[in-house]
Amino acid sequence: LRRNAGETEFHQAAREVLTSLGPVVAKRPEYADAAVIRRLCEPERQIIFRVPWVDDAGTVQINRGFRVEFNSALGPYKGGLRFHPSVYLGIIKFLGFEQIFKNALTGMPIGGGKGGSDFDPKGHSDGEIMRFCQSFMTELYRHIGEHTDVPAGDIGVGGREIGYLFGQYKRITNRYESGVLTGKGLAWGGSQVRTEATGYGTVFFVEEILKTRHDSFDGKQVVVSGSGNVAIYAIEKVQQLGGTVIACSDSSGYIVDEKGVDLDLLKDLKEVRRGRISEYVETRGDSARFVDGGSVWNVPCDIALPCATQNELNGTDAATLIRNGCGIVAEGANMPCTPEAVQLMAEAGVAFAPGKAANAGGVATSALEMQQNASRDSWAFDHTEQRLADIMRGIHDRCVETADEYGSPGNYLAGANIAGFTQVADAMLALGVI
Ligand code: NDP
Repeated sequence: LRRNAGETEFHQAAREVLTSLGPVVAKRPEYADAAVIRRLCEPERQIIFRVPWVDDAGTVQINRGFRVEFNSALGPYKGGLRFHPSVYLGIIKFLGFEQIFKNALTGMPIGGGKGGSDFDPKGHSDGEIMRFCQSFMTELYRHIGEHTDVPAGDIGVGGREIGYLFGQYKRITNRYESGVLTGKGLAWGGSQVRTEATGYGTVFFVEEILKTRHDSFDGKQVVVSGSGNVAIYAIEKVQQLGGTVIACSDSSGYIVDEKGVDLDLLKDLKEVRRGRISEYVETRGDSARFVDGGSVWNVPCDIALPCATQNELNGTDAATLIRNGCGIVAEGANMPCTPEAVQLMAEAGVAFAPGKAANAGGVATSALEMQQNASRDSWAFDHTEQRLADIMRGIHDRCVETADEYGSPGNYLAGANIAGFTQVADAMLALGVI
């Protein structure tokens, strides 16, 4: 803890993984002998840089940029960029640490990394966003490459931002190196299904949990938090599979729509108009209401999908969900459930799918984008979606089998942590002390 003072979220993420590893180290003492865990907790490289840019009023603004290249035992560093005012080293390190195990679980050849900035894209003009992205890439470009480090989007970084970042990379390097970033537009090297992948993947994972109970989404009431990229496509897939999403949110509050969320309206509001969730009610009329502030987890449901941000579902929320009969919680976001919430759900027998397994569909599809870029190919939507569904089934089954093998049947958290860890740890052992 002293070594990483003040990095609260990183401590939380590391503790969560390390507490699962007792049975692994007992069975495989060579991991301890080679200091694999201590090496895993120390990023291979951390880059912190100044991002100066000029706003529309002609004033110079300064932000801080980060890229933490955490572990490359399995492949080039891979992980998104987050633009949000809460970003500091502790957030980027927690996300980068999680990413190592998540990427390992996908079975694809990708290492773990994460980056971003304390820049807040909200309220800025397109021109300001572009100038910020160009300045950010003017430093970042020297650290990334298709064989080195391949960033993608995350909170505050979507198709628009990836476009400006890619444009600046291309301009500086004079290389059309498609594989340097993922989440690109379909016209310039992007992959079908990448936009949908994280949300769809989370729902595919839940579908696998339901299958183990001989059940399905049909007729289920679902609550989703957030209304960004992950949330929107989780809602879409739930609806396609016969469930009803009755509530979603943003950082100002949540909406409840008893008829089920109108997805066309939500997409127009969030993806086109970049508006607030409160505006949903103005167009939708009587079936919907907006609750200013408060917790979306107060809305009774069968399945809860936290898809907004870290630590958004706490012990009180978990107790409410349990009381209301919620049986499955799957993390579309990274670490949205606090340790207390996870504990309560485990005690109550709620199936809990941790983000490193349940939201791995996004990065897995990014790896498919890299494959298409490398072979200068582009695959059809249905083919790519089928590959995503297969990958999510594979991750689910691996979690179940690993949890069984290490004496924690039904515990997806233990299964995900141990399966991800052993894959990376074995590669680290093979590569020697580096
Ligand atoms: P977006 O920026 O597209 O959306 C984030 C959403 O979460 C917005 O609706 C935002 O509302 C809401 N939100 C943010 N903070 C809070 C808060 N404190 N309380 C309630 N709502 C909040 O990001 P993504 O959808 O891409 O990412 C969401 C989560 O999923 C993150 O944890 C991310 O790390 C994770 N993830 C994303 C992947 C991807 O492919 N995009 C891949 C794997 C994980 P507002 O606009 O008000 O801020």
